[in-house]
Amino acid sequence: MQVQENLRVKAVERVLNRRPVVMETRPKNITDIFGELVLSYSKLKRILPEHSYNDLMETAISGKPLSKATAEAVAQAAKDWAISMGATHFTHWFQPQTDLSAEKHDAFFSLDNSKNPVSKLSASQLIQSEPDASSFPSGGRRSTFEARGYTAWDPTSPIFIVETPNGKTLCIPSIFIAYNGEALDLKTPLIRSNLNIQREALKLLGMLGDKTTKYVNTSVGAEQEYFLIDKSFYSAREDLVFCGRTLIGGWSPKGQELEDHYFGAIQPRVMAFMQELEYELFRLGVPCKTRHNEVAPAQYEFAPIFEESNVAADHNQLVMETMRKIADKHMFTVLFHEKPFSKVNGSGKHLNWSLATSSGENLLEPSDSPQHNYKFLMVMLSVLKGIADHGGALRASVATHSNDHRLGANEAPPAIMSVFIGKRLEGLLDSIQRSVEEKKTPRELKMEIELAHLPSVKLDDCDRNRTSPFAFTGNKFEFRAAGSSQAISYPLTVLNSVIASGISYVNQKLEEELKKTGDIETAVFSTIRSMLPQVKHVLFDGNNYSDEWKKEAEKRGLPVLKDTPSSYKWFKDNGKFLVENKIYTQEEFDAKIHIMLERYSKAVLIEGSCLIDIVKTFVIPSAEEELSLRNSSTIRDHNTKMFKETVINLVQKVEELETLHKNSKQIESCIDLSAELSQKMLPLFDAIHALSNTIEQNTRDYLWRLPKYREMLFLR
Ligand code: ADP
Ligand code: MG
Repeated sequence: MQVQENLRVKAVERVLNRRPVVMETRPKNITDIFGELVLSYSKLKRILPEHSYNDLMETAISGKPLSKATAEAVAQAAKDWAISMGATHFTHWFQPQTDLSAEKHDAFFSLDNSKNPVSKLSASQLIQSEPDASSFPSGGRRSTFEARGYTAWDPTSPIFIVETPNGKTLCIPSIFIAYNGEALDLKTPLIRSNLNIQREALKLLGMLGDKTTKYVNTSVGAEQEYFLIDKSFYSAREDLVFCGRTLIGGWSPKGQELEDHYFGAIQPRVMAFMQELEYELFRLGVPCKTRHNEVAPAQYEFAPIFEESNVAADHNQLVMETMRKIADKHMFTVLFHEKPFSKVNGSGKHLNWSLATSSGENLLEPSDSPQHNYKFLMVMLSVLKGIADHGGALRASVATHSNDHRLGANEAPPAIMSVFIGKRLEGLLDSIQRSVEEKKTPRELKMEIELAHLPSVKLDDCDRNRTSPFAFTGNKFEFRAAGSSQAISYPLTVLNSVIASGISYVNQKLEEELKKTGDIETAVFSTIRSMLPQVKHVLFDGNNYSDEWKKEAEKRGLPVLKDTPSSYKWFKDNGKFLVENKIYTQEEFDAKIHIMLERYSKAVLIEGSCLIDIVKTFVIPSAEEELSLRNSSTIRDHNTKMFKETVINLVQKVEELETLHKNSKQIESCIDLSAELSQKMLPLFDAIHALSNTIEQNTRDYLWRLPKYREMLFLR
């Protein structure tokens, strides 16, 4: 009887009968379908009158306000295109501070004065919309009665169509702001940070004699790691459904120790999922590039070709949304949580980052002779200065309860922000410093550096340090600490701002040196010489996982922030540069801290409730059945005594957790609450997890009702 009611057994049966899901439409040539659901700039160029198109482009590049006439023209074009594609509704598509995207749909359908049905999208509907915004996180700034926020079209990210089984919706990428202009979303600060770094970079380029660059963009390629498990396992585990991770479980005869999953052959059902995913993403204009198995069983990675950061941020949201939908169709559930399973690797999102000019020059490309590439040298120095000054802010930007499980767990970068640039580049900077100190003439100096670096700095050793959170990989930096479930807009905002502040400092120094000497070369080298001692402590090319590094980093004065509460405590006191550089207003900055800590505490408390429930309704009942079977057996062994003690212990711990959970409601300050939860509740989770695992491993298999690790990770 019981066996038949066992959800776990049913789930296993279902999974064993699954076959790859065949797509209704097979991909034609990718180049034929790429971007078919996107109203790209090139399509707009064909549709719009020339002056409207030029006007729109100017807005997209410089942020100048759009004229009413152009907005009318774009609205008309967007509506006609959308209707020709079969869309019935439109929505402003935006990123509130939840890591998810948000949408509120309106029909094109309307009634004219004579009550005849018409299709409409006016300029004002295109540009602005007013969702009832009272339920989005705002850090306590708005109470419901004054919750007037509105979304505004962001013309720098293209409009697209989302298809669902029974219709199509036009999505208008938007920012989300309050009536006083305050940002309520993740995109507004990202756009500000892009303009800020552009301003500083253009100033730097100007000083270095570049008269042609019109604008500078940040480029980003976000590698997305994720787990795929069968939907029936997922739905049989309330911890996965409510928390995105397993709160108990963990034992499997095999994990990732054989390292046989990484880059292994992709299993057919998973491959079918990936192919349909890519097909849909190509249609949405997402330039998919790489797919492979990751280190942990059931873990995979997706990577696109890098794009301008604002678009990359929207595309990463689309990638995650599309993954969820397609996974569902293939009877999988995709897990973006940073640590869904204990004892195997978690997931991250590596942000590959560089700076590109309007002519397509990558300012982090060292070229064959970096010693003469002053743009490269100055940008590199700026990166080091930025991280040396504000590494803690970067750490805070990736601090969440879920990512806390990953950072510093010897599988992902540590929570300490250091930079890896490779021995040769470090050597180049050192020799420049030395030569300047030896007071060589500019000519001698050049010769010296030349000699020290022949043959040219080949950057082949750059990618070797996989343990570094921020590594130079030849012509870009790879920020490896971002969480797999995060929207990338926020960490990118902070990263751009950190580096912009480094560039700004370099600009000041370079300007002073230029005034002294009038010679660019000497000024560049002297700037390196004067600044290198201020930034060297942030360079680290050793093993970032080691305990010695933790001690060493502390000695060097680098912030060592082990979890979210400590990160935001640091950020509150040391993140003011973001306000000074107008990335956030003071109110937005305070709200950010509040929102992040509140989300942390809510996540922990939800896990607490879920753990209490799962132990009481699954673990203890199974344990009791096991005990009664053992008690009726004639064999009395030591194991049974131990088993019973474990159950009693577990019951006590759960009672403790319940009390703690109840009492935590009395703590009002979000800083105090988060600290209390991290210090007291999380250790209790660990203790309960361990006790529950002991019970799981000693309970007869048919009495256990939750899908086990060995099933979730290995059956598909
Ligand atoms: P790996 O796994 O070795 O780090 P991948 O090929 O998986 O490398 O991902 C590298 C990512 O870096 C891709 O998204 C790629 O488009 C991106 N990328 C390459 N060049 C640049 C650049 N100049 N700026 C930003 N991102 C880049
Ligand atoms: Mg990769």
